[in-house]
Amino acid sequence: MRSIVILGSTGSIGQQALDVIARYPDEYRVVGLSAHNQADLLAKQAATLPVPPLTTLTSRDGLAGLLELCRLDEADTVINALVGSIGLRPTLESLQAGKKLLLANKESLVAGGELVLAAAGKQEIIPIDSEHSALFQCLRGEDPADVAKLIITASGGPFRGRSRTELSAVTLTEALAHPRWTMGPKITIDSATMMNKGLEVIEAHYLFGMPYENIDVVVHPQSIVHSLVEYVDGSVIGHLGPTDMRVPIQYALTYPRRQTAPAGTINLIELARLDFEAPDNEAFPALSYAYQAGRTGGTAPAVLNAANEAAVAAFRAGACGFSDIADCLEDVLNSHSVLPADSVDVLEEAERWARERAASWLAAWGN
Ligand code: MG
Repeated sequence: MRSIVILGSTGSIGQQALDVIARYPDEYRVVGLSAHNQADLLAKQAATLPVPPLTTLTSRDGLAGLLELCRLDEADTVINALVGSIGLRPTLESLQAGKKLLLANKESLVAGGELVLAAAGKQEIIPIDSEHSALFQCLRGEDPADVAKLIITASGGPFRGRSRTELSAVTLTEALAHPRWTMGPKITIDSATMMNKGLEVIEAHYLFGMPYENIDVVVHPQSIVHSLVEYVDGSVIGHLGPTDMRVPIQYALTYPRRQTAPAGTINLIELARLDFEAPDNEAFPALSYAYQAGRTGGTAPAVLNAANEAAVAAFRAGACGFSDIADCLEDVLNSHSVLPADSVDVLEEAERWARERAASWLAAWGN
């Protein structure tokens, strides 16, 4: 029996993780749950479990409650489904406590990749992000030296095919209407700007130890191929499956085994075709800023991510336009004095600076 803590249980990934776990009551039990401020839903989730879990509300208990869950003696596994770089300390704490980490919180790897790898040591981090779960599966049993490149697929989001000029007028409602995936609001906006793919490139760099020049992004609007690995002999191994996060969530839980399909199967005859195209870096420049930040290293990825969190929050609050998000990222990234990312304190200081810089840029130029 595996004992699991879910950080961010009221979010999209957290709720789907509870769905998957409920299918296997003899194999998994939930011993801890955290939510930010949805106290009613958290209480309801706790009440449906066979044994009441320890719960914490971060809007009330802060980070201390989260870190306590990460260290919980009766837990062997932590699912980090928090949103944003607030997830970094819980990621580090879980690894330091020797817990198996199932990671949906990509921002903790983006912001603190080197610290996370150091804390993990030889422990394997199991990705929940669908593209990284796909890569993880395509890499199984292969010699890492034989990998030529990782190819991460992107749906292209709701604005695929639009020009930079057309994007300046799009609304929040349009940005939240993702054509393929059901996800939380922050990641849905990130998909619309292509920043989500940028964060995923950095995430893949750290998870799989791959240089940035060997990580490609290809737009694949059907979202059936979740990512691919090209090997030195020209063979390409891809992962296909339903467009449903319960698949990678379940795989992370059951790895290295598999259990029955949690979300149906795909029908290739009905799909009939799979399309691929190059990302439009002119209309969606956020992806290239992520490559730039990743190659720069140090505090640059954390700064880019923090500026993005601030700009997305501003867009969701109606305080700036859609195109301002990427323009703000460019300003913050290019005005940052990069430091080595050698402690969480250094990263958090850089993030504070980035949020302030983003806020003043948006105040001056937004709208
Ligand atoms: Mg993803």
